[in-house]
Amino acid sequence: MPDTTLPNSWDARAKQNSFFGFTDLPSINERGTVILTHGEGPYVVDTEGRRYLDGNSGLWNMIAGFDHPALIKAAQDQYARFPGYHAFFGRMSDQAVMLSEKLVEVSPFADGKVFYTNSGSEANDTMVKMLWFLHAAEGRPNARKIITRGNAYHGVTAVSASMTGKPYNSVFGLPLPGFLRLTCPHYWREGREGESAADFLARLVAELEEMIAREGADTIAGFFAEPVQGAGGVIPPVDGYFDAILPVLRKHGIPVIADEVITGFGRTGSVWGCESYGFLPDAIISSKALTAGFFPMGAVILGPELSDRLQRATDAIEEFPHGFTASGHPVGCAIALASIDLVLNGGLMENVQRLIPRFEAGMAKLADQDHIGEWRGRGLMGALEAVRDKATKKPFEGHLSVSERIANTCTDHGLICRPLGQSIVLCPPFIMTDAQMDEMFDKLSAALAQVFAEVA
Ligand SMILES: *Cc1c(COP(=O)(O)O)cnc(C)c1O
Repeated sequence: MPDTTLPNSWDARAKQNSFFGFTDLPSINERGTVILTHGEGPYVVDTEGRRYLDGNSGLWNMIAGFDHPALIKAAQDQYARFPGYHAFFGRMSDQAVMLSEKLVEVSPFADGKVFYTNSGSEANDTMVKMLWFLHAAEGRPNARKIITRGNAYHGVTAVSASMTGKPYNSVFGLPLPGFLRLTCPHYWREGREGESAADFLARLVAELEEMIAREGADTIAGFFAEPVQGAGGVIPPVDGYFDAILPVLRKHGIPVIADEVITGFGRTGSVWGCESYGFLPDAIISSKALTAGFFPMGAVILGPELSDRLQRATDAIEEFPHGFTASGHPVGCAIALASIDLVLNGGLMENVQRLIPRFEAGMAKLADQDHIGEWRGRGLMGALEAVRDKATKKPFEGHLSVSERIANTCTDHGLICRPLGQSIVLCPPFIMTDAQMDEMFDKLSAALAQVFAEVA
């Protein structure tokens, strides 16, 4: 650990003037911070010269690692050509035009339109405003409620935090009124004693039907779902989930929005998570891997029907009064074009598909021990859930902070992975080699053994 007694240590300086979000503050006071200087492939290096294999691709986004030359070159070339422009008043960069064409081309939609933001949260907020705007223009000003699921993660702005189904948002007095929550579709945790997966699914469908009947279909603006819930703990839905709930939403004319901020661009083994699960949404929310994490950027990708409806709604008042100063930034767009090319034509998608069996085997092997309740995931995203008792699924006592201890032990051994509730999340970069993946599992395995021996 860095010597925090030195006033000029990176750790002391970081704590003095930087405010950490989503960080357990007692633990950084105890263990110190990790201040990074650069990366090499899937590794990052800190100010003390220690190397860590980043098993989380940064924050789900650095799919091409931390020094990919093609992405660095795309950024450098675009900075030299045209380093910044907006997308207001009928002007936008050529890069933004090309990226929109590319996003529609690689989307599951036959046609569509793209609107840019700087983050996933802003893309979800933008989508909600689009829905409010078009419902009002079509004569349904009361269609404002948004349906999401427990454990959903849609971001941190006031609206996207209201869509997020995590208890911590109560410290902000959120959710705002009109944000409705369905049960998280996690059979292992939410299924009742003796309830089959099929019965659990039927219960979720009935819950949705009851919610729509109770609230009134004409008060609902849209339904948002991550194909695999990410920050909620890597939760794939119970089998048949989207096939069962989409007809209910369709019957009531409720738009279906896929939040593909994590699942987009290959994470689940297909380009889009909705492809992995065989459903077609009305719009897609994208960010994170969109630029391989090399630039802050988000996008709303509207399918043909919502594009047409939004266009008509906008024609009536001659404007869509929304946009961010840096929306459609030409450097971000140039990087996104290069990143999409890497995923689709540069071998990353193939490498994901090649790695998935190795990833699943590694997870299954670690899950085959007493204190792992289940492993779950899809493609190259997975979680191992630690439990006190495997048979009863009884969790470890909260004060033991088992998942934090596992993650800290991993960090001490040069692996970054993330504690989420009682689980440990892995979300490796798409560029990993077999040897790097084995290194990841070996380090995690040693950390699990060490921590479980301490708390058993
Ligand atoms: C990360 C994430 C967001 C928020 O994106 P930010 O860029 O952090 O605002 C939204 N939805 C999902 C599914 C995410 O994983």
